[in-house]
Amino acid sequence: MVAVSFRCGHGADASSPDSVALSRVCPLCMLLHETQRSRAELLARVAPPQRAALAGETRIGASYEWRCRRGHDRYSATVGQVLTGPSCAKCRANAAGPGARREAGVAFMKPGLRVGTSQVEQRLRMLLGQRIRLHHRVNAVRIARMFYGKQEVWPDILIPQLRVAVEYDDPGRSRRAHRGLKAGSDVEKDEALREVGWEVIRIRAGGLDALGPHSIVCSSLTVAAVDEVIALLRRIRGDAAVDPLLIPQQHAV
Ligand SMILES: [Zn+2]
Ligand SMILES: [Zn+2]
Repeated sequence: MVAVSFRCGHGADASSPDSVALSRVCPLCMLLHETQRSRAELLARVAPPQRAALAGETRIGASYEWRCRRGHDRYSATVGQVLTGPSCAKCRANAAGPGARREAGVAFMKPGLRVGTSQVEQRLRMLLGQRIRLHHRVNAVRIARMFYGKQEVWPDILIPQLRVAVEYDDPGRSRRAHRGLKAGSDVEKDEALREVGWEVIRIRAGGLDALGPHSIVCSSLTVAAVDEVIALLRRIRGDAAVDPLLIPQQHAV
């Protein structure tokens, strides 16, 4: 069997004569990148005796023992499941329990969460903020299942008065691909929101296909795309719900 070394330094020893050097990072580093996680974060969650093995792991399908963040029993899962799937069985049961259902769908402020960091996201917030009154004090929504190990999601923009989230996707957006695995997780995130009474409008720019029932496919973020967001809000929640949020427009001179 040929040993493979990866650009990230994982895998076989690149200086060994029997190894083949690949110019890409290992599958695990790639998944960490796509899911915006770090290996340090994973290492903090794995059972301590397995830490050394995980530090050099390249395979997404490799199984490890994990410690639950909330102190439940250890559970075994693959690295891929830990990064993209539900977490420990008790957390999952709690997420679907009566206490969680009461809070499900509630928008709240998650302190320290970096939102609107990309320029285009800031532009979307600005353009949309010129049309409707946006709530600036919320950035997260409590959901009724676990998503990436948390019981909440952080859409780009929240309109809690209408229970609608607006997401901006393009293939070049920093650190995110929005294709393949990311598209799958976007769909799952939308489902988690829909489950608690929210709808998601996705602006899909730069050649991305429609994703979900309320997609706006465009080449880039323009005023016309924002007009479509308003039209979709009306279609989803009705004029009577949207009208009170509108900011009177100054007509061009
Ligand atoms: Zn790697
Ligand atoms: Zn747990």
